[in-house]
Amino acid sequence: MGGMLRIDGSMGEGGGQVVRSSLSLAALTGTPIRVENIRAGRRKPGLLRQHLTALTGAAVVCDAEVEGASLGSRAITFTPGPVRGGSHSFAVGTAGSATLVCQTVLPILLGASVASELTFEGGTHNPMAPPFDFFDQLFLPLLRRMGFSVHAELGRAGFYPAGGGRFSVTTEPAAALTPLELLQSVASPRVQACIVQARLPAHVAQRERDVILEALELAPEAVSVRKVRSPGPGNAVVAWVSDGDDVVELCTAFGERGRPAEIVAQDVVDQVRAYLAADPPVGEHLADQLLLPLVLGGGAFRTGPLSSHTRTNIEVIRMFLGESAIVVEEAGDDRCVRAPAGGLADGYG
Ligand code: ATP
Repeated sequence: MGGMLRIDGSMGEGGGQVVRSSLSLAALTGTPIRVENIRAGRRKPGLLRQHLTALTGAAVVCDAEVEGASLGSRAITFTPGPVRGGSHSFAVGTAGSATLVCQTVLPILLGASVASELTFEGGTHNPMAPPFDFFDQLFLPLLRRMGFSVHAELGRAGFYPAGGGRFSVTTEPAAALTPLELLQSVASPRVQACIVQARLPAHVAQRERDVILEALELAPEAVSVRKVRSPGPGNAVVAWVSDGDDVVELCTAFGERGRPAEIVAQDVVDQVRAYLAADPPVGEHLADQLLLPLVLGGGAFRTGPLSSHTRTNIEVIRMFLGESAIVVEEAGDDRCVRAPAGGLADGYG
């Protein structure tokens, strides 16, 4: 184990992702860390419930010693021990994103030599975070393509502000990993959509469906309505692009009080059109979330100009693994993001 790595939580994007990625990488590399200035520029700085659950969750799965684990904390120390699979439950306790908690804990367990059964509670469909559908339909299949054995199942949806969602994730020790390669755009993209809805009148979903069918010129069977169990009302319009089999991008817009259903649906339509108009296969959100899996198993993906989240995540990864852990090549608006094969997962087989 090396010395303590100091991380400035206000670096780059300066949000919760710096904390979450640092925790995953600390556990994976066995590096003790101190993170200061956590979410310094945010309206409510320091650890919110979602970040605190990610911290305590990461600590549980690698038997870490932690200082500063309290709400609002702006500095933490995290000294990881050995990775521990098995059964673990993580509850955010508010509508804070449970998928972001999962994306902190999961990379730590992916390379473990024992299976895990994990349960996450909190928000499953939050604005500004990966909705469960993004995680399940886009992110996890890419991990499976790399050779990781990981599956998720939604029990209950959790929308803002009621929260109360729940999903489970199972992992098994991975066999040999295959580097991820996402360099080619889909030649004949196929678009499908689903209106996810809980405790709201049927006409909301119907109006959203009508807008999507017409604007994207889809066949009726391409747009479904899924009523989900949830403690509170909620509405998410989810549209995904696939090559017929594999999903390559998933766009979401959220209904909220006072936001007409037509506007919510149009938001997704605009996101889908923007993705189809741009050439790179990997969209903005997927790009920042794929970086950790990429350094675990190696590979490359092509995306557009890097978002602040992606640039910051690359910086955090380089602090742990060195400059050459991620290489970015530029050609016009294209960015090819590469990680050498083998990488981190080797030490955890
Ligand atoms: P902050 O500290 O900035 O208040 P936070 O800790 O909740 O916020 P961020 O650090 O901003 O979260 O990270 C948000 C993550 O959610 C990023 O990985 C981003 O790609 C992802 N994300 C945001 N919106 C979507 C979306 N619509 N679909 C998929 N992923 C999303």
